[in-house]
Amino acid sequence: MAKRDYYEVLGVTRDASEDDIKKAYRTLAKKYHPDVSKEPDAETKFKEIQEAYEVLSDPAKRDQYDRFGHEGPGFGSGFGSGFEGFNFGGFGGFGGFDDILSSIFGGSRRGSRPSGKTRGADLRTSITISLEEAAFGVEKELAINKYETCTECSGLGAESRSDIEICPKCHGRGRVIHEQNSLFGRIQTETACSNCRGSGEIIKNKCKTCGGEGRVRKTARVKVKIPAGIDDGQGLKLSGYGEAGAKGGTPGDLYINISVQPHEIFERDGLDIYMEMPITFSQAALGATVSVPTLTGPVKLKIPAGTQTGTKFKLSRKGIASSRAGTTGNQYVLVKVVTPTHLSAEQKELFNRLSKTNEKPASFFEKIKKFFS
Ligand SMILES: [Zn+2]
Ligand SMILES: [Zn+2]
Repeated sequence: MAKRDYYEVLGVTRDASEDDIKKAYRTLAKKYHPDVSKEPDAETKFKEIQEAYEVLSDPAKRDQYDRFGHEGPGFGSGFGSGFEGFNFGGFGGFGGFDDILSSIFGGSRRGSRPSGKTRGADLRTSITISLEEAAFGVEKELAINKYETCTECSGLGAESRSDIEICPKCHGRGRVIHEQNSLFGRIQTETACSNCRGSGEIIKNKCKTCGGEGRVRKTARVKVKIPAGIDDGQGLKLSGYGEAGAKGGTPGDLYINISVQPHEIFERDGLDIYMEMPITFSQAALGATVSVPTLTGPVKLKIPAGTQTGTKFKLSRKGIASSRAGTTGNQYVLVKVVTPTHLSAEQKELFNRLSKTNEKPASFFEKIKKFFS
């Protein structure tokens, strides 16, 4: 099924302000939230609205979407299993979601009992890779110190399931209501239950390994598949590889910023590779076949006789192959004629003889003559 335009989903124009987008999202989220909506396809609609808002509420993502549409580098498909591509500096906008939803729905979903479950934190890290690794893709292993689900109790926090009881003080609600008389009549205030710290549950025998948290800190080894064609400053999102949530809550995500080391010979521009190739006077004058390094090994390049310094040669499809873009860049070779600095006696003699036969560059010489006359 074709994806709907995000602006259309939120019912705003392409030049809508951040405020307009937020307003539109609020209205639609209220209408289609699966907990309250009576619309038959509320859940699908709600997801669509959330996705559109996630992108359009974030200036960096919105900019990408405006330029590339759904196929843009920030929006998923093609980065291989489990990955979503995104651009760094963009995910500050995620925070807005829960705030808006909780202001609409009062912070708790209808019918759900608090369980002390909290979502694990997102983690951010970076990897530096070589240009070759960026070009062909690479698998890297990261060591990350983070909360992991306690294997002893599988995140339960208790020795066994029967050790978990409903809190007798709040009867599992996690919150208690205090009533107070005041000048204005009876006032009710609701606070988190102090007995169970808002979780609604009491653990009789806490897991000895995690002390009831359901998670423990350890150094986790995470394997990351970096897709071919990735560029400096781009990032990867590994859903669920952030910190484990407390008491079996969903884990956070892991964001990895990719930086690509500068290369000794090659310079990259998008999918194209640039390099400077030094050649000798005689090669430039007489023509030659030279061996040029490329990412996939050396290739032969024919330099025609009379080649000037600064001449650019193109090696088709010798740049970076991107499976996501479905295309391969070129390599450009900039020829640089190197003037010899240390001449042997024989070379000196040869250059002397050569200079007597040399023609001056005619047109330029004429210009100089005109200038002085
Ligand atoms: Zn309680
Ligand atoms: Zn445990």
